[in-house]
Amino acid sequence: MRPETIAIHSGFDSDPTTHAVAVPIYQTAAYAFDSADHATALFNLEEDGYRYSRISNPTVAVLEKRVADLEGGVAALATASGQAALHYAFANVADTPNGSGAANIVSTPQLYGTSHTLLAHVMPRSGVMARFAANDSAEAMADQIDGNTRALFCETVGNPAGNICDIEAIAKVAHAHGVPLIVDNTVATPILLRPIAHGADIVVHSLTKFMGGHGAAMGGILVDGGNFDWQAQAARFPQFTRPDESYHGLVYAERFGRAAFTARARSVLQRTTGAILSPMSAFLLLQGIETVALRVERHVENARAVAGFLKTSRHVAWVEYAGFPHSPYYALAEKYLGGQVPSLLTFGVKGAGANGGFEAGKRFYDSLKLIKRLVNIGDTKSLACHPASTTHRQMPEAQQRKAGVTPETIRLSVGIEHKDDIIADIAQALAAATAGGQQLRAAE
Ligand code: PLP
Repeated sequence: MRPETIAIHSGFDSDPTTHAVAVPIYQTAAYAFDSADHATALFNLEEDGYRYSRISNPTVAVLEKRVADLEGGVAALATASGQAALHYAFANVADTPNGSGAANIVSTPQLYGTSHTLLAHVMPRSGVMARFAANDSAEAMADQIDGNTRALFCETVGNPAGNICDIEAIAKVAHAHGVPLIVDNTVATPILLRPIAHGADIVVHSLTKFMGGHGAAMGGILVDGGNFDWQAQAARFPQFTRPDESYHGLVYAERFGRAAFTARARSVLQRTTGAILSPMSAFLLLQGIETVALRVERHVENARAVAGFLKTSRHVAWVEYAGFPHSPYYALAEKYLGGQVPSLLTFGVKGAGANGGFEAGKRFYDSLKLIKRLVNIGDTKSLACHPASTTHRQMPEAQQRKAGVTPETIRLSVGIEHKDDIIADIAQALAAATAGGQQLRAAE
């Protein structure tokens, strides 16, 4: 089936008892056992079924199957948020039974801010270190790999940088060193890019963004591509290939084969730390996913129009958009996205004087009428963020620049309203920002 069809049908036909065609919300914590033997079989993972919603839930299971199919994976684990999915992915690949604490994950430098914080500051507290490459090339990633590396990580399309990773080249480097490639495919979605087909092993999403698409529910997921051979790298990954004492001696790679990664993430990490997706949120996300292909098409078309407008505006200093032929990522956008560039773009408002860019960016931001001022992406609504005055305000300017944020940077997540209305709002806010600057200078 094609992605448009998978997004609507995969994982659910109709309810076997009521014949309901919308996915039922199984709002239950626990499930009755037929007998003690039935319970034993479920607990031993010998029989499929449900026992407690911290482990699995039928509504959430439909979402897991649907996203696994969209990505071309063999299994998936849904979580409370994208950050929880990333945490589980990193912990699952890098924690070892004896907690030796020597493992590291090699990452591109361009990441969503909180993912960077997770890797740089939070994971190291539990012994999993991060090594950031100088840039997003496969060569720079290879430079950081050592004997303790347990995975490579990148965002297929970075937020907010908009960089596009050469997944095939990075996967090749990962596999040559006997480790998997984990990617965050939140911005691209499987509608534009299916990383497993290009060699990625584990795909993570914040479902809160384009997949859910309506800014109504938080959620995350990790999808197992099923192609990484844990047994062949047994010394590096004993958590999959040796008996797990925390689960009466289960060997995940033997019992679950190609789905060992998600099976362990569920049985060890989610079972014991509980960052589960609620059935109600799974339902809302499934509703969103049904239309993801249509929405992404419109997002892409609107972003192209907005980028074109910004490029010609005399109030705009620069625009970063991989759909421009002069972009360093143009060729990768053609290769991996078929030229369909996601609707995340950044630009700088022109401002005069020492602090002119920051003040102009702020005035532009304050002048928006239709476009929402907030820190989310991937909603049907157009959204804007002025990182220097909001998300990155606490950082010194030098550190902001390292994170790809300049004082004038505006990040836009272009929505699916009519493109003329989006452009009209940007045009009036640019005019107001510039007029405001002129008045300030006249008063000085
Ligand atoms: N990954 C990317 C690329 C993101 O943009 C975000 C959030 O903005 C996340 C992960 C985290 O997702 P969540 O907010 O669902 O925890």
